[in-house]
Amino acid sequence: MSKRDFYEVLGVSRDASERDLKKAYKRLAMKFHPDRNPGDDESAVKFKEVKEAYEILTDPQKKAAYDQYGHAAFEQGGGGAGGFGGGGFGGGGADFGDIFGDVFGDIFGGGRRGGGGGFRPQRGSDLRYNMELTLEEAVRGCDKEIEIPTLVDCEVCDGSGAKKGSQPQTCGTCHGHGQVQMRQGFFAVQQACPTCGGKGSIIKDPCNSCHGEGRKQKTKSLHVKIPAGVDTGDRIRLSGEGEAGEHGAPAGDLYVQVNIKDHAIFERDGNNLRCEVPISFGLAALGGDVEVPTLDGRLNLKVPEETQTGRMFRLRGKGVKGVRGGPIGDLIVKLVVETPVKLDADQKELLRQLEESFGGETGNKHKPKSDGFFKGVKKFFDDLTS
Ligand SMILES: [Zn+2]
Ligand SMILES: [Zn+2]
Repeated sequence: MSKRDFYEVLGVSRDASERDLKKAYKRLAMKFHPDRNPGDDESAVKFKEVKEAYEILTDPQKKAAYDQYGHAAFEQGGGGAGGFGGGGFGGGGADFGDIFGDVFGDIFGGGRRGGGGGFRPQRGSDLRYNMELTLEEAVRGCDKEIEIPTLVDCEVCDGSGAKKGSQPQTCGTCHGHGQVQMRQGFFAVQQACPTCGGKGSIIKDPCNSCHGEGRKQKTKSLHVKIPAGVDTGDRIRLSGEGEAGEHGAPAGDLYVQVNIKDHAIFERDGNNLRCEVPISFGLAALGGDVEVPTLDGRLNLKVPEETQTGRMFRLRGKGVKGVRGGPIGDLIVKLVVETPVKLDADQKELLRQLEESFGGETGNKHKPKSDGFFKGVKKFFDDLTS
């Protein structure tokens, strides 16, 4: 289902002020309000649409996400083609659907931690790994081994922090809640438990290996499967491959942030590739064949006669197949006519003769750009003096 642009829904410009948004919202909400349109399904849908647009665009964080990513900013998981897992590490595996969804999780401030409320041990931190890929690797997909310094569960105490054979004890002060209530006059104030520091448990006999932390520093190597078609800015989530949580709490996630290195020949532009191919002056004038590179090998391009420098050719389907599906991009070839250099005397003489042949009254008919240009210049000066 394709959604309408939020700005369009409210009928405002993209730089509308908060007041404009409010005004537009009020007007439309009145118009489509279900109380005013009983039994009218279409109005009900419009009302919802208007309300959503208003809520997003008046929330600075959500607005920023929407401006940058459009509706995709609020689609959870976004139709991912199932896990392309097999990461091979503790059931982790890259989660395709997350390649997009999680970008926004971050923008919205990691709601997953579900702040407040419980005093369960902290989930481990998410980690980010910056991965440089060549264009070929990104287009075709690849397997990478990476090494990341991280905190892992202590193998001696299995992350509990308590010495082998013993268990963390439930804190007697807060009875495991991690919080205590203090009375101050009328008010009951919740505070972190002073005995256990909010953890809810106490380690009487700490593990020697991790000194009661339950986690240890370690460099771990991971296998990452990069799906074909990724682009700079894409992130791949390896769930549970971040830092271990405190005292056996769930681990964080690892985000592999993709960055594509510059390529000697191609420039990537979304799913299209661009490249410049030099051709000689003679070939440009007479027409002929030129070999152009593609990611799958060489291709022949027919250069029509009288080709001007800068002319572009689109080779359909010779670009990139995007990681989120859709049609394969094109290769856009820009032909650049080269001025010959290091001419010998004979060649110079030939060129002089050619140049002479362009001279005279009818010379400009061989020079389509000059013809128009000099006519324009003449008109410019004529207009000035008149
Ligand atoms: Zn330990
Ligand atoms: Zn306590």
